[in-house]
Amino acid sequence: MTKISDHIAKAIEANKTEFSFEILPPLKGQNINTIFDNIDPLMEFRPPFIDVTYHREEYVYKERNDGLLERKVVRKRPGTVGICTALQNKYKIDAVPHVLCGGFTKEDTENFLIDMDFLGIENVMALRGDAVKSETYYKPNKNGNFYAQDLVEQIVDLNHGKYLDDELQNTANTDFCIGVAGYPEKHIEAPSLDRDIHFLKKKLDAGACYVVTQMFFDNDRYFEFVDKCRLAGITKPIIPGLKPIATQKQLNILPQRFSVDVPDALVKEVVKARTPASIREVGVEWCIEQSKELKKAGVPVLHYYSMGKSDNIRAIAKEVF
Ligand code: FAD
Repeated sequence: MTKISDHIAKAIEANKTEFSFEILPPLKGQNINTIFDNIDPLMEFRPPFIDVTYHREEYVYKERNDGLLERKVVRKRPGTVGICTALQNKYKIDAVPHVLCGGFTKEDTENFLIDMDFLGIENVMALRGDAVKSETYYKPNKNGNFYAQDLVEQIVDLNHGKYLDDELQNTANTDFCIGVAGYPEKHIEAPSLDRDIHFLKKKLDAGACYVVTQMFFDNDRYFEFVDKCRLAGITKPIIPGLKPIATQKQLNILPQRFSVDVPDALVKEVVKARTPASIREVGVEWCIEQSKELKKAGVPVLHYYSMGKSDNIRAIAKEVF
């Protein structure tokens, strides 16, 4: 298998823009064919890699017969590592599991990484994760990593054969290529974009190889972000992440959830569109224009958030790749 940093380097050398995308594990109860059915129509665009998100536990409260509430811990979308292995076996392409700080002790993380290493997965995306739904603020697990930077450091340690138990002898090195997240419109908790970039640089200096950005709908935000990162001394590749708007509701949900702006012109087009199908069409057209401009600017990879549906990503890829 190949490191994502090598895929990126090859694309840069060939002056090419590659297509890649991110999928979500299906809801518990569905089978792997749900994933394959979504991915099959995208394979003709030859993605060098596919990302698979990780979804941490949620707390669900159930009313008992005595009227008291019982708290249950559930994971609605398990299977990240299993899906990655299935993708690597079936399509012979690299799969990138997302790994979180939230919900993991450092011991859990180490064991998770050992599983991936044994399964032949060589790429990981290191993320902090968000608060669980019932909490207002993110809290790390006791004995877990706090920030993504800490997680990157743990993975790099393992790459050097340094396990948590320092009495282990003659340990094998793992060899993970690590991606991290970047936010052209700043992370929601960051006091300023400059401060956020300061911490982004720390993740990269700790050993991460590349950045994938949060979605954005105005390419100028991406170009300005890249310029600021370069001025701050970040030299590693910054892959743009794109998502086509698919429903009118998303005009409100996406800014609230991901702290991103939707340009007025796009809002107007979505509001003008009358049917769900025409709203989807507006989202696709906008994303095609964004993709074409980014491709012209020479980005090595365009990374799409599929959110579990591939028809609109396919419509975009057909026009762009
Ligand atoms: P960090 O880099 O740790 O940053 C979090 C905040 O802390 C930022 O405001 C940063 O400025 C600040 N900060 C960082 N380091 C320090 C420090 N040392 N001291 C003080 N402040 C600091 N979530 C999921 O649950 N599953 C996924 O699969 C997933 N995939 C994602 C993929 C991409 C490409 C992106 C962009 C996001 C993804 N997320 C996912 C969401 C992500 O987990 C959240 O955005 C989370 O709130 C931040 O994660 P991070 O890794 O950027 O955190």
